[in-house]
Amino acid sequence: MTRKRIVAGNWKMFTNHKTARELASAISEGSRDAAAAGVEVVICPPFPWLGLVAECLYQSHVKLGAQNVYPADEGAFTGEVSPTMLRDIGCRYVIIGHSERRHGLDERDDFINRKVHASLNAGLTVIFCVGETLEERELDLTESILNQQILRGLRGVQPHQLKDVVVAYEPVWAIGTGQTASPEQAQSAHAFIRQRIRRHLGSEADVDPLILYGGSVKPDNASALMSQPDVDGALVGGASLKAETFLPIIHAAITAAR
Ligand code: PEP
Repeated sequence: MTRKRIVAGNWKMFTNHKTARELASAISEGSRDAAAAGVEVVICPPFPWLGLVAECLYQSHVKLGAQNVYPADEGAFTGEVSPTMLRDIGCRYVIIGHSERRHGLDERDDFINRKVHASLNAGLTVIFCVGETLEERELDLTESILNQQILRGLRGVQPHQLKDVVVAYEPVWAIGTGQTASPEQAQSAHAFIRQRIRRHLGSEADVDPLILYGGSVKPDNASALMSQPDVDGALVGGASLKAETFLPIIHAAITAAR
């Protein structure tokens, strides 16, 4: 069975209420041919704009995602946002395990695992990020780091839940640096991730997770990355902040899907 493709934009802590609305509308307008080609477009704005972007995306093919979540439905957790709140406001996706949270905010695998379970239970699709640092790659530890992040972060996830888990391979050294993994490096990591997930989490032969590449994806490298057999799309940071750079990446996914 052919896997669908996903191009997701992570706006990080950028945009304001005006530019968020304009960007969401421009992406929706400019990617109308995506759904028919089997490409899902997702945008993940900052929390304060989720409601207004949800309104802009009313009846659009573009899906809404959040950049973070807290692993409880409600409670005395000042400043946090629950998976049920995200569902309530129209989110379908949530990014979990992003390296800027793992490394910048010291988020550990067990906390990430709790977020994964809480989000799946609330009916969200999880974009689960994994990736090695430059030092780990140079020490030839890439596969063992990916294996560890998968085993710990997805612990307890059942085979039937894997349809709601999208993995994003995001080498830390490639995020926001302008330095991209080569198509061959991405393919090799993706093939490894697919095989690990099937072996550790899938008791069913048809477990076939979607795996996105993230790390300085731009219009000029998107096609080469997405033409790799195990690269099912992209998680895009910087280039998702302008329709002029995000739309060509979506169109590269559409071409790769044909
Ligand atoms: C990201 O934020 O997940 C990301 C991949 O960022 P960038 O595309 O800017 O490297």
